Amino acid sequence: MKFVDEFRDPAKARALVKNIETLVAQIPICKKRPLQLMEVCGGHTHSIFKYGIEQMLPDAIELVHGPGCPVCVLPMGRVDDCVALAEHPNVIFTTFGDAMRVPGSRKSLNEAKAEGADVRMVYSPMDALKLARDNPDREVVFFALGFETTMPSTAFTILRAQAEDIDNFSVFCNHITIIPTIKAILDSPELTLDGFLGPGHVSMVIGSAPYEFISGHYKKPLVVSGFEPLDILQSVWMVLRQLAGGRCEVENQYQRVVPDAGNNPALTAVHRVFELREFFEWRGLGSIDHSGVRLRDAYAHFDAERKYSLPNLKIADPKSCQCGEVLKGAIKPWQCKVFGTACTPETPLGSLMVSTEGACAAVYNYGRIDLAEILKNREAAASQRSEQRA
Ligand code: SF4
Repeated sequence: MKFVDEFRDPAKARALVKNIETLVAQIPICKKRPLQLMEVCGGHTHSIFKYGIEQMLPDAIELVHGPGCPVCVLPMGRVDDCVALAEHPNVIFTTFGDAMRVPGSRKSLNEAKAEGADVRMVYSPMDALKLARDNPDREVVFFALGFETTMPSTAFTILRAQAEDIDNFSVFCNHITIIPTIKAILDSPELTLDGFLGPGHVSMVIGSAPYEFISGHYKKPLVVSGFEPLDILQSVWMVLRQLAGGRCEVENQYQRVVPDAGNNPALTAVHRVFELREFFEWRGLGSIDHSGVRLRDAYAHFDAERKYSLPNLKIADPKSCQCGEVLKGAIKPWQCKVFGTACTPETPLGSLMVSTEGACAAVYNYGRIDLAEILKNREAAASQRSEQRA
């Protein structure tokens, strides 16, 4: 297929891996410990496991899976708010498919739907607005989530609703922003990252310039990357080329999609409709300053948080969940105590097992891991611990 096959060419992938191996030998730090490169975006995590990219890379490179899957970082309390909205008698609650399976503290949206709530899957906020137009006697709420990638479509929908004077449509806004998140990761003492693969879709909107502080202030290289196997391998090679040459810069591997200046009409709509929240709560990462947006006062009548009373509670993850540690890259998905047993894609305990972009789901579905061996080791460790206690 044109524009896909050429980015999955095995011979070119092998050549890139050879070039990566050559660069690894030139980077002094690789002699002491593995280089840690974070792929920020969940789309990259998915591709990395799907195409076995981690296995192709030399052992001296460790890929750390970042928090760029918006469904995965949604805190449980916000899911509970969605359920409360969906259970409102006159509401049609609309959402993207992934979000329906994310567990809340009482139930998921899927379970609420099974119990009678009117929850409907949509492909875009404009679909939700059409539902509002078609059902003037009902209230339609759209569950808006995602980074800057999906923010413009929500903004344009609100502008359209305003222009058409539609008053039975509102948005439960959970949009988050990438730059404060990367900054929080860089400030985390638990991580020693050497470079980044920058998110492709977000950058399509914001461009590559907003990442300059990463190379300027934190002295780490970042390469905005595409999602096909050759994109990712070439981006790894570009990060290594910088490290081997003693440089740290922002480079754009995904130039066929990402304009360095971003998408001006999309950014204009976003700034017109949204303003930064003082802080936003992230699953596993806690509260991050200015990392989420809400609707400006001029659009308050489309804001579900102001239109309805919501529980708005801070709910801790179940004790057995280690989503936070996986999100921060502190442990690998299969090192979570419940990976593959209590938590599977069919019965997710944590949100990282729900979305196809979640690190746990990606490893479970595509990871070259021996689950039987992991479970055997886990049982052996548990029985050793109980013997020591006895
Ligand atoms: S296995 Fe489940 S509970 Fe554990 S980190 Fe992954 S999603 Fe969270």
